[in-house]
Amino acid sequence: MGLIIDLSAIQANWKALADLAPKARAGAVVKADAYGLGAERVAPALYEAGARDFFVALASEGRAIRPHLADDAQIFVLSGHLEGEDLTGLTPLLNSPEQFFRDRALRPRGPFGIQLDSGMNRLGLEPGEWAAIRTEALAAGPRLISSHLACADEPDHRANAEQLASFRAMTMGVTVPCSLAATGGILLGPDFHFDIVRPGVGLYGGQPFAESKPVVTLGLPVIQTRDVKPGESVGYGYNWTAERPSKVATVAAGYADGLARALARQGKLKLWAKDRPCPVIGRISMDLITVDVTDLPDVPKELEILNDHQGVDALAELSGTIGYEILTSLGRRYTRIYR
Ligand SMILES: *Cc1c(COP(=O)(O)O)cnc(C)c1O
Repeated sequence: MGLIIDLSAIQANWKALADLAPKARAGAVVKADAYGLGAERVAPALYEAGARDFFVALASEGRAIRPHLADDAQIFVLSGHLEGEDLTGLTPLLNSPEQFFRDRALRPRGPFGIQLDSGMNRLGLEPGEWAAIRTEALAAGPRLISSHLACADEPDHRANAEQLASFRAMTMGVTVPCSLAATGGILLGPDFHFDIVRPGVGLYGGQPFAESKPVVTLGLPVIQTRDVKPGESVGYGYNWTAERPSKVATVAAGYADGLARALARQGKLKLWAKDRPCPVIGRISMDLITVDVTDLPDVPKELEILNDHQGVDALAELSGTIGYEILTSLGRRYTRIYR
């Protein structure tokens, strides 16, 4: 099965996002295996494009990419310093006073950053907690002070201005590099850019970065085709019944590969023979999807579910989710092919 990942498109998206924040240094978020696309290949490609600041969710993710990046690349761990974690070569973003004191006791010379809560109430020190340790924390020389926006994909949401004001208040007078914006924050404009920006989904071709280049093409191999007579049904629950003499192709992927059953629920999911759409019929099985290919002159070896006609956000809409979830659900069974 072919999941084709266009590394040059990821590099181009990184450069385009970096250009939107010309006063900031552009980092790159490669958590969750670079949004499902393979961090061991994606992170070095982003380094080659110019990124030096990488962000992962977990220390284990950082350890996996550390050998693939040069020493001048910093790898920030968003979950900070969890008990018992090996942070060699990594820079935890400490989220609580408890994490701060644990980290300083265990790795007094190890690099660290601070994550502040500016309103999202998910990770980071609250303003009061920060005020209490600020002097000591700044004296210890953090590499970065960051926070995260909850509603950056909604430019008119009041939370954006409120979080900006909160982050400004908490970082007033510090000389440490500061970071507030992910993809959505970059698009909110220069007030949100500070010193380092942290794009994730926009690198991988997803909204809210509408100008991003598509990164993934996913072709599903056709296992067999058959002719189906009017009145015959296809798949679990006999959910689809032919109204005309039909040709049905069965392809090798299903919900175990991240293609949720909900994608087919509205009856609008299509697979593509290059530029020709073919309706998915019946239910999505664990490993199989059935497609009406009656109108194709020839059935190709593969039918595409992700391509320039149907990107990750179009798929996400069909199942009521977001492009992020489509990407990070992409299954382990696909052969990942890098261009
Ligand atoms: C996931 C994440 C990002 C990247 O967000 P995108 O919306 O994918 O650009 C940046 N910062 C933090 C703290 C995150 O959790």
